[in-house]
Amino acid sequence: MTAIASVDLLTTQIQQLQTTLDQVGAYIYTKDMQGRYAFANKLVCDLFGYPLHEVMGFTDEKFFDLSICNQLRLHDRRVLDLGERIESEETNIIATTGETRSYWSVKIPWRDADGKIAGMCGISTDITERRRLEMLVQEQKLLLDTILNNIDSYVYMKDYERRYLYVNEKTAILFGIPKENVIGKFDADIMPKEDVDRFNMMDRQVLDTGEKVCGEETFLDSGGSERHYWSIKIPLKKDGKISSYVGISTDITEVIKLKENFQLLANTDAMTGIFSRRHLIECAEQELKRMHRRGETMAVIMFDIDRFKSVNDGYGHATGDRAIIAVAEACKKNLREIDWFGRMGGDEFVVVLPDTDLASTLAIAERMRGVICATKILCDDGSIISVTSSFGLIMSDSSSSFDGLLARSDAALYEAKNRGRNCVWHDQKTLGNA
Ligand code: GH3
Ligand code: MG
Repeated sequence: MTAIASVDLLTTQIQQLQTTLDQVGAYIYTKDMQGRYAFANKLVCDLFGYPLHEVMGFTDEKFFDLSICNQLRLHDRRVLDLGERIESEETNIIATTGETRSYWSVKIPWRDADGKIAGMCGISTDITERRRLEMLVQEQKLLLDTILNNIDSYVYMKDYERRYLYVNEKTAILFGIPKENVIGKFDADIMPKEDVDRFNMMDRQVLDTGEKVCGEETFLDSGGSERHYWSIKIPLKKDGKISSYVGISTDITEVIKLKENFQLLANTDAMTGIFSRRHLIECAEQELKRMHRRGETMAVIMFDIDRFKSVNDGYGHATGDRAIIAVAEACKKNLREIDWFGRMGGDEFVVVLPDTDLASTLAIAERMRGVICATKILCDDGSIISVTSSFGLIMSDSSSSFDGLLARSDAALYEAKNRGRNCVWHDQKTLGNA
């Protein structure tokens, strides 16, 4: 081969190599001992915004803001002066655009035939986007951890076999085990069997249906008290199959207690503690339907304190209140567990006696009349008085509505009042004083 042919071959080979280096997705360059570019591939030239001949022979001062990117110069010097091989992350600020970019750089010294350092070669891979995504993931994890560990709910994740994959701080505290030790465990490793069975119901449902499930769950706490939770369980799918699910359970015990208290208040007459009018009517209507189905009868007794206005007028309103309370207490003591007793308003009361015959009802009414007469009421001045009451009594038949029964017992009570008070009236029969 002639010398010219050899030069041509070499030129072709260099051009091929340069084209190849231009295609590699990394920044490739060489520098001489003064840090001047001896070669830069297309990616480097594009980044700097200069053609190759305006890159070669120039140092990084021309292309980077080296007052901020001093790290770059220091790395180069360690390679050129000390012959070190450097593999590290570098952050550059491009002088032409002011843009900050991150690279994974490998910098290697190259030596002449005598082994002396003659320059360096650098290969830098742009990891700006990867870093940005890593930062984003980190920020999102921080946000998620902050929410999950401060939310006033128990948050957990289980796999298809119902092994814990995740629990938040609150759940770990409830279990009394460090968070890391809960991972991989089954409920049976952590809680009593009854609780496991309760948990299983909703867990199975979400796994079997693949649908989000919401509902109330009840567990006993370490002190044995019942606690109520509102739970939402969401299935997570991988390749169309349920692989795990996330549960969020919020303690609603206080809300349930408040609801029960409100219910109790609404159902109870505040002064006497017996049923309110509304609750008595609701219960009696339900019971009447049941009795109709079974062909049984119900008795209703309505009674009202006699000449109560004169108690208020003569002894004061407070004495009147004490009289109402004393009458309610005395009657309640003389009724059965299954009987319903309510204050209809003012000095008027109703007793509902399920599955009770006329003779027994008359006896109960008569006993209450006697008990009321015998009840002592303390007046403001220390004196003791007593009151009497009149009773209207009726028995249900197969077509009675409770409204109808109330109207008929009111009419019977009116009759008892007409017949001189302090008596029990049922149809044609009058018991007591009249
Ligand atoms: P009657 O024998 O016909 O029933 O005569 P009465 O005076 O008892 O008349 P009525 O039952 O119609 O009057 C009830 C009175 O009870 C009217 C009202 O001033 C009084 N009252 C209603 N609610 C209360 C209460 O909570 N406390 C007190 N102290 N009095 C009440
Ligand atoms: Mg009255």
